[in-house]
Formats: sequence, structure tokens, C-alpha cells
Amino acid sequence: MTRTRKKDKIDRVCIPAKWSCANNECEAVWESSATWVSKAKVDNKISAKDLTKKDYAKQKCKKCGNSDNNLEEYPLVSKRLIFEERWYRVYGLWKCECKNEWASAYTWILLESYKNMILGPGLTERDYFKQDCKTCKGNHDIKDITLTSYRHLMRRNRDNVHHKGHMSEHCGKCRIHVRKCQEHESSVL
Ligand SMILES: [Zn+2]
Ligand SMILES: [Zn+2]
Ligand SMILES: [Zn+2]
Repeated sequence: MTRTRKKDKIDRVCIPAKWSCANNECEAVWESSATWVSKAKVDNKISAKDLTKKDYAKQKCKKCGNSDNNLEEYPLVSKRLIFEERWYRVYGLWKCECKNEWASAYTWILLESYKNMILGPGLTERDYFKQDCKTCKGNHDIKDITLTSYRHLMRRNRDNVHHKGHMSEHCGKCRIHVRKCQEHESSVL
């Protein structure tokens, strides 16, 4: 969600969104996990209906080929990624004070924070389940660990999950919940 790129001199961030085709003859609607929206609009929490076409990168309708379509709603919330009506699963990038960095497809942030489009740097420790640094785990001096950014889970992240697995012993959520992160449906991705 905090990836940025410059295009037409506008800073944009990647956010999942719902689209509809602007061609009256076509009734296509689709969900796109990679929709590029102006960062300034996201920071100011401007809702989809108040965006102009300049505020987001165009997407083509796969059904009729129409190129200039309507962004209906963002950020998209996928019900299958919600845990206990309160937490939302994302793909998070983590950093420890010791400089160790890692990515986790089992990063849980408050659903409210996600819906309010609070990007990585705006989150406080209360907004997510903390993970431990596996390099520092067991050391006496406690190092600072932060969730630096996150994005919506996309299909291509699935391989990471299966190849590297989830280290429950380093996960704040696994420690306090009977149901381990890995037991969440893997078909959600
Ligand atoms: Zn169409
Ligand atoms: Zn560390
Ligand atoms: Zn876990």
C-alpha cells in the first residue's frame, strides 16, 4: 500500500480498488489489487466518489476494451482476510533496529486502520500484532521493531508463504491465539 511511483509528476500509491466499466453498454465490474491513486488524495482520505480521473491511473475493461473507466471504491476490503472482525491481513515489511529486515504475509493490522488508509509510517504499535526479530530473539537488550510498510496480499505473494513458512514463535498473534496464522485458509490469496 505504500509503494510509490511517479507518473505524470504525480506521486501515487498502490491500493486495491473496485472498478466499473464506463461504457453504458457494458456492465463489467472488477476488483484490482493494483490501482494507483494520488498519494495526496490518499493522505487526505478523499473518498472514491470525490476523485477526478486525473487522480488515478486508468484501467482498461477486459470485457469491452473501453479504456477510461470509473474507480468506484477503495481501499477494497476482502472479507476472507478479516480475523475476528477486527484484524486485517496484509503483506508487511518489517525492520529491526539491528538492521534486519523481513517480509511477512501474515501481518495483521487493525481493520479500521486499513479502511482509514493509514499507511505504514502512520501506524503505532497498537495498530498491529508485533513480530520478533529472529536475529535478536533471546538477546537481552530489547531492540525496536517496526512495521515500515504494507500492501494488499496479491497472488504472487503466495509463493513466499509456502516456501518460507510462517514462524509462529516470532509472531505476536500466534502467541496469544489458539488458531495459528498458518491455519487460516490458504486459499484466501
Ligand atoms: Zn466494459
Ligand atoms: Zn534485530
Ligand atoms: Zn502468526
